[in-house]
Amino acid sequence: MPNATSSPAIVLLGAASLSTAKRLQALYPQAVIHGLRGRVEGAEALYDDFGATLRALFQSNTPIIALCAAGIIIRSLAPLLSSKGAEPPVLALAEDGSAVVPLLGGLAGVNNLAREIAALLAVAPAITTSGELRFGTCVLNPPAGYVLADLAQGKRLVSDLLGGEHVRIDGAAPWLAEARLPLDEGASRSIRISPELTNDPQALLIHPRLVLAQLKHADADTVSVRAALQHAGLAEAALAALLVERQQMAQPHWAAIATELKVPLRFIAVDDSLPEALYSDQQLSLHLAVSPQTAALIGQPRGRLSVVGLGPGAADLMVPAVRQALDQAEDVLGYETYVTMAGPFRPEQLQHNSDNREELQRAAHAFELAAQGRRVVMVSSGDPGVFAMAAAVLEALEASTNVDWHNVELQMLPGVSAALATAAKAGAPLGHDFCMLSLSDNLKPWAMIEKRLEHAGIADLAMAFYNPISKSRPWQLGRALELVRQQRRPETIVVLGRDIGRPAEALSITTLGELTPEQVDMRTLVIIGSSTTRRFPRAEGGDWVYTPRWYPAD
Ligand code: SAH
Repeated sequence: MPNATSSPAIVLLGAASLSTAKRLQALYPQAVIHGLRGRVEGAEALYDDFGATLRALFQSNTPIIALCAAGIIIRSLAPLLSSKGAEPPVLALAEDGSAVVPLLGGLAGVNNLAREIAALLAVAPAITTSGELRFGTCVLNPPAGYVLADLAQGKRLVSDLLGGEHVRIDGAAPWLAEARLPLDEGASRSIRISPELTNDPQALLIHPRLVLAQLKHADADTVSVRAALQHAGLAEAALAALLVERQQMAQPHWAAIATELKVPLRFIAVDDSLPEALYSDQQLSLHLAVSPQTAALIGQPRGRLSVVGLGPGAADLMVPAVRQALDQAEDVLGYETYVTMAGPFRPEQLQHNSDNREELQRAAHAFELAAQGRRVVMVSSGDPGVFAMAAAVLEALEASTNVDWHNVELQMLPGVSAALATAAKAGAPLGHDFCMLSLSDNLKPWAMIEKRLEHAGIADLAMAFYNPISKSRPWQLGRALELVRQQRRPETIVVLGRDIGRPAEALSITTLGELTPEQVDMRTLVIIGSSTTRRFPRAEGGDWVYTPRWYPAD
């Protein structure tokens, strides 16, 4: 199966395929539709060069569903195919949805993807993998929790079976029960499911991930884990997880070992019971679970809380690290509008829409979830550190004595703040020194806001006003403008950005003299230029606004 965290890219050449592409999104809600600029309106990402786009997706290991002729796809990817690296699933889909052809990525589950899509579109998938056709399963692509020891050996076995050989199954392989394998108890060939290392050339080895390595001493490292496995005759591929006591959750040492060994790191409580040790030394002990499923249930991972900024709204203004955190999230928290903006989500991702104005309570909820080992994302618009949740989260954490909260992996992922998004639309009004001010006096005294406005005015800083006005704060903006007018001329350029990066986006350029609070609402970001901010006509109509990087000499 393709990794659940990597959604396919749906690539279109012509507008005729858009409706088929939209049907696919029912199956893969997070799949991004890529369309050729100028030809496909309504795609989420636009590209200019089909080949380059396909190659970039391929190289980033993104599953590709291209709605065009198979030949075009093959020709585009051909230069990348001779070097056999990681290969994502690549499928050709007829633009009317009448045929689905898996092309590449046999080991990445392309046939499963083809079957899923074919079922959705009610057509037959063009599966051409002989082993799979004959045996009804891909012996070379065991399910999660099992690892094929040697691909070449696997291919040999499949071709032998296709050539008429028989095979016996040695060990527990529940998924092979449905396969139509040529079974024979007395066969010399076998498929052996075992965590142990063996050198039987007649056996295809599949390792179930059963081995749990409990690391008990600070000196334990990858070398000691590998030596212990070797000593116990166990394959490294059979390692299900590293286990460490909960108290040490935040120590980076353990995470580094787990990353190097490419296994999950899980934390156990002192009274958690493990299967009896089959190997033990001063640094670590090895335990064997009865099945990969039970192995995966022992302990809990370190939870993670990502406090992310979505940017102003447009998907292409969201930083990739935020997209990735959202894709990996198990829980998503925030105001409903922003949670909706961050979606769509897979059915198993829980959305906690809160119109709860109590931000510390929301932060507490996020920590409670993350402390259970979950991957939690808290969303803000723009940047989470600009008049948003990041500071509230840190405030809640500092005030908490709960060790589990402090042990959560906390990360802040930045976003394009409204001031920057608005400035970019207008040109470069923040091209020299500037300040960002929230005009909301909910969390600070109004007198403080007045003082800052006055000083910013004197310092000739360009100013970006967040939260400029609201129903409950009707007069504040008028008063703020009064103060600014004491320091700045009426011709001072003002930029208003409303719903920037969203469908209703509106940008307007005016002057301090003409600006009235009625032109502004709570979805507007106000930029007041400095004394040097200027404007000039742009070819498309309207003006460019910028603040030069230099200052006129007195
Ligand atoms: N963290 C956000 C700001 C939250 S405060 C950020 O970094 O952008 C909310 C204020 O931000 C709003 O009152 C408005 O002034 C501004 N704002 C947020 N999104 C906006 C957008 N898309 N267009 C214009 N202003 C926006």
